[in-house]
Amino acid sequence: SAKKILISACLMGQPVRYDGRANDDKVAHLQTVIQRWQSERRVVVICPEVAGGLPTPRPAAEIRLGHVIASDGQDFTAAFESGAQKALTLAQQHNVAAALLADRSPSCGSREIYDGEFSGRLIPGQGLTAELLSQHGIPCFGPATFDELLDFLNE
Ligand code: SF4
Repeated sequence: SAKKILISACLMGQPVRYDGRANDDKVAHLQTVIQRWQSERRVVVICPEVAGGLPTPRPAAEIRLGHVIASDGQDFTAAFESGAQKALTLAQQHNVAAALLADRSPSCGSREIYDGEFSGRLIPGQGLTAELLSQHGIPCFGPATFDELLDFLNE
């Protein structure tokens, strides 16, 4: 049967980001392709941070020395780890082939994340969910690498 894809809820228009908004990364054809996948029943949606028990809106958070620290100093590590685990379980239940995750998020970022100092600087790295999925053989892509995802799926 057709390959399934795990997708960040905020890329599906759900207003679950820390700032209470949806993700507005503009990539040509992204929404068109996602709609087709949905009509083919191949989309599995989750927001790991909401699944991990965090409210929306919530403070922005960044990864620092292996912990997820909010801009107000709260330690969100446990909630982020719980959400990552729930995303992995969901992905495995549906046997997804890959994940399309919002870029730069401390949960979903698949290629680069903020440096942990709330400086606005990006560094190579992955958010907790992307890292866990990758470790379990589920390749993670984002809007910035959407073409690579399509290549991977052979579409
Ligand atoms: Fe989007 Fe992922 Fe952040 Fe949820 S955790 S708002 S799905 S980037």
